[in-house]
Amino acid sequence: MIATSMAVLQHTYAVPLARAAARSRSLSAFAVPTKAGVSVPSNARESQVLLGMSEPELQRLALDFGQEKYRGKQLHHLLYQRKVKDIQDFSNLPLAFRNDLQESGWRVGWSPIYQTVKAADGTIKLLIKLEDNRLIETVGIPVEDEKGSMRLTACVSSQVGCPLKCSFCATGKGGFSRNLQSHEIVEQVLAIEEVFKHRVTNVVFMGMGEPMLNMKSVLEAHRCLNKDIQIGQRMITISTVGVPNTIRRLASHKLQSTLAVSLHAPNQKLRESIVPSAKSYPLEALMKDCQDYFQKTSRRVSFEYALLAGVNDAEEHAVELADLLREWARGSHVNLIPFNPIDGSDYRRPYKKAVLAFANALESRKVTVSVRQTRGLDASAACGQLRNEFQKSPLVVESEEMESQPEFAVAC
Ligand code: SF4
Repeated sequence: MIATSMAVLQHTYAVPLARAAARSRSLSAFAVPTKAGVSVPSNARESQVLLGMSEPELQRLALDFGQEKYRGKQLHHLLYQRKVKDIQDFSNLPLAFRNDLQESGWRVGWSPIYQTVKAADGTIKLLIKLEDNRLIETVGIPVEDEKGSMRLTACVSSQVGCPLKCSFCATGKGGFSRNLQSHEIVEQVLAIEEVFKHRVTNVVFMGMGEPMLNMKSVLEAHRCLNKDIQIGQRMITISTVGVPNTIRRLASHKLQSTLAVSLHAPNQKLRESIVPSAKSYPLEALMKDCQDYFQKTSRRVSFEYALLAGVNDAEEHAVELADLLREWARGSHVNLIPFNPIDGSDYRRPYKKAVLAFANALESRKVTVSVRQTRGLDASAACGQLRNEFQKSPLVVESEEMESQPEFAVAC
């Protein structure tokens, strides 16, 4: 079907389509030439995705299809303001243009929501089924202020699974499948907006995966969220457990977003036991890179610290942490996260008394600290939980299995 239509299109748009194909955003970069020398997708299931493209890119695409440049602006409006999901519903574009886009393999890029779970506190987690049947989780966290206006945070995934295997994390226990493409990150935010019927005000890259292992897509998605979907850079947080040489690379982009570093321990020995990947990134080097990030961006790094009862939650750990921050990151903020229980883990959640004692020890040493309110526990959507029950099954489902999937409980 696509091949036949392409043959017709080649007649009129042979050269422009070659350029469009060169900018292909398809899952596979592999393409085969036709008799006319135009590249077409080698795989019938391949498609090119509009979501994630900037206005100038959409204008060039319109020109490539023999349309006026202003059609690109219309495309941009349809994608990001009206949030239309299907090319055939782009009703203010000529039918011929819509058909040309579709027949040459373009699609908008929304994926179906496989399952939705709502926690008692209003947090909603979505399981999204990607084009290759892989599943990712995203979580929407609403918070209402005293005046009644709602802040809606989208906690997005950057990978299918995660290769880093932090000892307390449900996602890490499930293994790694692949990096997400930028549009697969962007669509998570749009899906949250659709489910809540509300604008997403904040985005945190704290879902499945280590964002720094997929920096290209994360930066592309960040651009789109900021410029196209109009979420302020300061409302976006990129988190990392620490991957050598990536914090400096990120700093060079001089984003005005928050970098949140998952520290979880005040010294190298303890950190290695909680975060195995820390073996290749000494704590001193990590803190030096955080210092560099602040110097380059003027944005203070925020430090995440999962409190594990009897492991890293003693007052002496708080004192050591305060000393570490005084040396490398004076004025930084620490976010304490009382451990969220997951299946198959021996870690325990600390008592409230221990959490408060830890926070007080930091505050008395002039470290600003907050204790993260646990959201979505009953839906297993809290931090570190984005896996659990459902993810005992694989990260990918075959379509015929869809009906018989067990109830899921995802992780974050
Ligand atoms: S905490 Fe983050 S980096 Fe560590 S295993 Fe989980 S998802 Fe990966």
